[in-house]
Amino acid sequence: MLRKKLKLSSTEDAELSEIYDVPNMSLALSNKHFNSIEPEEIPAKLLKHANGLNEKLSNLSFNKPVEYIYNPVEYAFDMYEAFIRKFCNEEKKILLLGMNPGPWGMAQTGIPFGEIKMVKEWYRIEAKINKPAIECPDRPIMGLNCHRSEISGKRLYEFFKKVSDTPENFFKNTYLYNYCPLAFMMKQNGKNITPAQLKGSVKKELEEHCNDTLLQVLSTLNTEIIIALGKYVKDQAESILRAHNIDHIQVIYLLHPSPQIPGNQNWGTKAQKSYPKKMHSSSNNVLNPNELSESEKHYMEIAFTYARDALRNQEVPVGCIFVYNNEIIAKGRNTVNETRNATRHAEMNCIDDVIAYCDEKSIESKDVFENVSIYVTVEPCIMCAAALYNLKIKQILFGCRNDRFGGQTVFDVSTVLNPVTDVKGGYRADEAMALLKEFYKGTNPSAPPSKVKIKSIDTKLV
Ligand SMILES: [Zn+2]
Repeated sequence: MLRKKLKLSSTEDAELSEIYDVPNMSLALSNKHFNSIEPEEIPAKLLKHANGLNEKLSNLSFNKPVEYIYNPVEYAFDMYEAFIRKFCNEEKKILLLGMNPGPWGMAQTGIPFGEIKMVKEWYRIEAKINKPAIECPDRPIMGLNCHRSEISGKRLYEFFKKVSDTPENFFKNTYLYNYCPLAFMMKQNGKNITPAQLKGSVKKELEEHCNDTLLQVLSTLNTEIIIALGKYVKDQAESILRAHNIDHIQVIYLLHPSPQIPGNQNWGTKAQKSYPKKMHSSSNNVLNPNELSESEKHYMEIAFTYARDALRNQEVPVGCIFVYNNEIIAKGRNTVNETRNATRHAEMNCIDDVIAYCDEKSIESKDVFENVSIYVTVEPCIMCAAALYNLKIKQILFGCRNDRFGGQTVFDVSTVLNPVTDVKGGYRADEAMALLKEFYKGTNPSAPPSKVKIKSIDTKLV
C-alpha cells in the first residue's frame, strides 16, 4: 500500500523494473509482493537508508550553541547493524519512533534507546564501538563499559520486558527507530540539545533529510502504525504522512519516557495502556509458570482433565474451561467425532454453555464474555480464536501451540480483528502436545472406513 503512495527513489524503481521487466511497476506493487521475492533484503535496505542519511547529515553545519555532534550510527555502526540483523529481518507493523540518541543510551551503544543493561543482558548484542571524531569531555563514549543508565532507555526496557518477556517477542511486529541519528551537545557541561531545539535553516535541512529517510524506512517495513514517543516526532510523522497523502498509517502518541517530561512518572503503566493490545497479545508470548497464580494453575489442571477425557473418548484431546468472577461457568472438550460436527471444538461447546448460563440467570452474555478468562490446553484454532476475539474475551491462557490450525501460529487472527483479548501460551506445553501425539499415534488406519473418515475431518479443523 505504502509503495503505491510513496515516491520511491529512482534506484528502487529501477530495481523493481529490472525484476519484473515492466516500467513503473511501483504503481502496481505492494511491498508484500516485493519483499516476498527478497525477504532477506530488509536489513540491507535499512542499513542503506541509514548510510544515505549519515552522508547527507555529514554535510550540514550546525551553529552555536551546538558544540559537539555525535553520530553513533557511524562510530557504533557494527552495533546498529547487529541490532537490525537480529531483530529486523522482516516487515514490521509497528514503528516505535524516538527522537534522537541520548548521551547514556544510544550514544554509547549505537542502538536506539540502547540502555547498557538492556543491550548487554536482554538483546545480548556485542560489537565494536569506536569513538566520535571529537569527544565532549563531559559525555565520553565508553560503550558497553559505561556505568550510567539512561532513564528513558531503562523505562522502555522495563516496559518491553513486561509486555513481551523476550526481545524476540517484542520485535516480532515492532521496530525501534530514532528519527534523527545525531546527538547534539553544548560546550557547557555537555548539555543535550534536541533536534526540536535547533534553530535556523539547518534545522529545516536536517528535518528534510530525516523525513525522507523515515519514509524509506516505513516503505521498507510496510509499517501500519507509528508509535511516536514524544510530541516532536508525532508532529514530524503526521506532517510527513499528510504531505504525501498517506492515510493508511496510523500515528499513536505516547509521552516520551524521559524523566524530564512532566507528568510521566508512571510512564510504563501509561505506555501499556496506549500500546496496541494486539501487538503484545498476539506475539509468541510464552508463559512463565511463575507468572501464574495457584488458582490459574488449578484451572489449567481442570482443562487438562477434560483433554484426557477427550483422549479416552477418541476425540482430539483439547480441554477447556471458562472462568468468570472466580467461578467456572463452562467446561468441556472436543465433541467433533461424537456429534459428527466439525465445529464442536472445546471452546465452541463452552461458548454455548455460557450462553445457557446467562439465559438461566437472566444476565447479558456480552458482559459475562468480556470478563471471562479461558484456560485451554491447546492454542485456539483460527475459527475459535475469531469467535473468542469477537466476544471480547478478557484473556486466554493456552498450553501448546497448534501448528496446524492455530489462530496465532498459522494465521494471526489478531491482525484482522484487533482484539482486546490478552493471549498467552506455553504453560505445560509439552504435556498438552504429548496428549495430541498420543491421539494421532492412535489413529488406526485399519479401522472401519467411517471412523477414519470422521477422524480426518477432525484433524482438519482442530
Ligand atoms: Zn477451534
